[in-house]
Amino acid sequence: MKKAVSAIKGTKDILPQEIRLWQRLEGECKHVFELYGYREIRTPVFEATELFEKGTGITSDVVIKEMYTFTDKGGRSLTLRPEYTPSVVRAIIENRLYLQPEPLRFYFIGPMFRYDKPQKGRFRQFHQVDIEVFDEKEPAVDAEIVEMADFLLKRLGVKDIKILVNSVGCRKCRPSYLKVLREKASGAKDVLCPDCLRKLESNPLRIFDCKIEACREAARSFPKITDFLCAECGEHFSRFCGYLDAFGLTYTIEPKLVRGLDYYTKTTFEIVSRRLGAQDAVLGGGRYDDMMKEFGGPDICGIGFAMGVERIISLLSAVEEPRKMLFAAFLGQAALSKGMELVRELRRQGIECLLEYKERSLKNQLSRANKLGAAWVLIIGENEIKKGVYGIKRMSDGVQMEGDLKGILAFIGQPL
Ligand SMILES: [Zn+2]
Ligand SMILES: [Zn+2]
Repeated sequence: MKKAVSAIKGTKDILPQEIRLWQRLEGECKHVFELYGYREIRTPVFEATELFEKGTGITSDVVIKEMYTFTDKGGRSLTLRPEYTPSVVRAIIENRLYLQPEPLRFYFIGPMFRYDKPQKGRFRQFHQVDIEVFDEKEPAVDAEIVEMADFLLKRLGVKDIKILVNSVGCRKCRPSYLKVLREKASGAKDVLCPDCLRKLESNPLRIFDCKIEACREAARSFPKITDFLCAECGEHFSRFCGYLDAFGLTYTIEPKLVRGLDYYTKTTFEIVSRRLGAQDAVLGGGRYDDMMKEFGGPDICGIGFAMGVERIISLLSAVEEPRKMLFAAFLGQAALSKGMELVRELRRQGIECLLEYKERSLKNQLSRANKLGAAWVLIIGENEIKKGVYGIKRMSDGVQMEGDLKGILAFIGQPL
């Protein structure tokens, strides 16, 4: 045998055994988002590298180490999208969607790419569910998004979840906080890791993201951003919390929740599940009021969240629904032709049918049907064709009958 080609490191096949969970998750997302007035949008998998450099900010880790960037045959620098928001912002500006009457509420489900060291549970191609709302300034929408996320996770059956919320301020109030934070963090220079020392200069907020215990310990004594919010940000945050209370949601204010990406303003939030261990966030998001403007679009605010599909899938238990499939067994060529005609009709009646074209003994075909978990076996032989009636066996209890197409349909219609 020739040497087979393998999948690229950090990528993974999603096989038919797992796909039911993926389809269920995608179906629930679509259902819930559309209930809240969102519409699906699909953007290309790759974009000009510049778009993501602009979108994530030059100090972000995503840009520094993780972008999947390559030069195409035309010498252009392209990047496989590492996150979704910059693409949707570009699409809104380019298609001038803000001039249309429809609300700017979008959802998206698809693959993302990061050129990271593939470690346990982290892939170079992974999947995200994203939602984005634009042109809604009111903190009520921030709360509605959190409520929608909570509703979705409950529908999916994700257990032990906790809602964390924070505000990261704005352009006006963040600089004074950063100044104080930088001073305080400088005093802890001897304990911070090299990565955090670099962040100390570029963006000290990101020290809070460090997973190293010594850095986390030091960060516990750092000042809280919520003590430095300007009047506007402070009011936005307290009203946001008020709406969450009105929804009856339980949440925790987590001042160290600053999110990994640099474009956030005001609200940030995360939903975590204890069942995930150390990397416990299932969903995270926040507000990015300056982004559209920075991309050369109108001054429209935005807010959204992203959810890691692989993480959610790992929390869902596979509920194998019994397959309601009919296996058509045939004996001889004439029976095969008749079988093809019958399954064609049954499929049009909404019944999943499998007809395999290899000639095999009846015993062989019955054991095959059994192995596949078929609900029924339809038996078509020479005799059956002559009489115009066919044998059907219900696999759950072994009950058999004979009948024409109408009789078979009636038999199948019976509860299993
Ligand atoms: Zn502010
Ligand atoms: Zn660190």
